Amino acid sequence: MKTNNYIILRSRYYLSVFVILNLLFQIFSPPTMSHAIEHTLRTETIICEGTDYQTVAYFFSSEIEGPTVMIIAGVHGDELAGIKASKQFMENFEPERGTVIIIPEVNKEACENRVRTMPLEEDLNRVYPGDSKAQDIARLAGELFEIMEVNEIDFLLDLHESIEHYQVNPSHYGQTIILDDDNEPFLREISDYLVNQLNRLVFLPGNYFKVIIEPIIGCSTYEALNRHGIPGITFETSTRIDFCKRVTFHYHCIRNILNYFEIISLSHT
Ligand SMILES: [Zn+2]
Repeated sequence: MKTNNYIILRSRYYLSVFVILNLLFQIFSPPTMSHAIEHTLRTETIICEGTDYQTVAYFFSSEIEGPTVMIIAGVHGDELAGIKASKQFMENFEPERGTVIIIPEVNKEACENRVRTMPLEEDLNRVYPGDSKAQDIARLAGELFEIMEVNEIDFLLDLHESIEHYQVNPSHYGQTIILDDDNEPFLREISDYLVNQLNRLVFLPGNYFKVIIEPIIGCSTYEALNRHGIPGITFETSTRIDFCKRVTFHYHCIRNILNYFEIISLSHT
């Protein structure tokens, strides 16, 4: 009996020491590093593979769940500022949450030839939602819309340019943010936010951005909203303005939209 009591006491002693050491370790050990390291999964999807319309969609996914935003440029191949800005933006991009899909040269052939449309008589921004089984440019539009649907995107940003300021000649859209529907409070809210942010970068009042309502059947944002309930805006700069400044506008447009969705934090970038 005496030996048994001795063993029990000894065991209690070791157990107490183990519990105390464990507590001390938990108090003084360094915090876990798992939150300090952010990972971005980068993948690519080939659109219209093997055809004249072949182009690439780049995916940037955070480990942390969040909204999915799609950014497209080069729908018109001679509207260079959005193409340049989206390519620049992709270089070091790390989303803090969610997923961003960027297609910097939607109409690749038109971009390479620096012409508005390719084929010349077909305007891609009038053939949405397209048809992924077609053989002509409707296939490009169709595959792009399939990416939107499959990835259940929350917002579409379509980057464009125009040859004149809307303020000077309203038949052109330079320096505007175009909405397809004035009855969507969310679209009004996000576009008002964007205008306020971007006009801080504008020195001449003639270059101020303005929100306009212009529903155009067959254009990306109109069809995304009306067929799939996906909100989006078309962003337009005027080519009357210096190229570097226009690239800056597109770059900040992308950053502010992603900041609005808390995919990036402007204070950290
Ligand atoms: Zn355009």
